[in-house]
Amino acid sequence: MGSATAEEREKLLRVVDGLRVWRRGGQRAPHKPLLVLLMLGRLRAGESRLVAFTHVEEGLRALLRHFGPPRRSHHPEMPFWHLRSEGIWELAGPVETLGREAGETPTVSAARRLTGGFGSDVWQLLRDDPPLVDEVARRLVAAHFAESLHSDILERVGLADAVYPTGDGSVCSAEGAGRLRRDPQFRVGVLRAYEYRCAVCRYDGRIDTVPVGLEAAHVRWHAAGGADDLGNGLALCSLHHKVFDLGVLGISPDGRVQVSQAFHGQRAAQRFVARFAGVPLLLPQSGLRGIAEDNRRWHEREVFRGPARAAVTAAAEASDDYEW
Ligand SMILES: [Zn+2]
Repeated sequence: MGSATAEEREKLLRVVDGLRVWRRGGQRAPHKPLLVLLMLGRLRAGESRLVAFTHVEEGLRALLRHFGPPRRSHHPEMPFWHLRSEGIWELAGPVETLGREAGETPTVSAARRLTGGFGSDVWQLLRDDPPLVDEVARRLVAAHFAESLHSDILERVGLADAVYPTGDGSVCSAEGAGRLRRDPQFRVGVLRAYEYRCAVCRYDGRIDTVPVGLEAAHVRWHAAGGADDLGNGLALCSLHHKVFDLGVLGISPDGRVQVSQAFHGQRAAQRFVARFAGVPLLLPQSGLRGIAEDNRRWHEREVFRGPARAAVTAAAEASDDYEW
């Protein structure tokens, strides 16, 4: 690889790392990362460099709805426009739209007349270096999303190959490993505090003496600056960890399980998720610190897909539908 290429590669990775900008107050801003991931998936699938906004609009909106923060509306036109300011993206379209100030986002109908894609140098660099595509993808998911969602996102954009499974659903890479700083004490500390039980369903399965399917979840994501301490930890079974990170489960100010009204499903979905609406979250054993309020609030604001369902009543609990 020539030194010019190595330099280009470093430049691209710096831009990618620079997308890791959290707005004030820890607000999630995954718009640009999700657009880049979507476009990397298109590149991998052999699609053309430039694409009409209308061709990716719905796909990007769906990614934002599923993996972005809970918001009333989502704006795929924002990253499609603003990615240009990062120097890796170009736009084509009517002069009256392109002539706007960089900071002035066009309306969605104006955006529908635009075409965009990676600049040709960036495109060529990525096309000639498949491992670089994987590296960029891994850096983006690591910097912007909870670990339990990494494989889901990569799979969804057609980059499942970028995953090196670590056995717990997260991804790692030689270069990314240092960035995913892990504190092994965190897992042990959290599981011990909750006495090796899921704080939602009390699941405590083990093979002989080894717990299985129990995980230490971060309330405020590691990627969002969440700390490795008890005030930010929760012992959850694998299912409840996944749906907690997806915003299906939340925590009310009085420490009860919240279930999103957006969640639905038949009997098993009711039995394993919906029925926990209103159930008190397990507290850590006495003397140990519970979840800090600012972390709970971050999850409520940036992850939980409110509004919450009404608490399951005692009557429903007693009926056949809710029996174990
Ligand atoms: Zn559970």
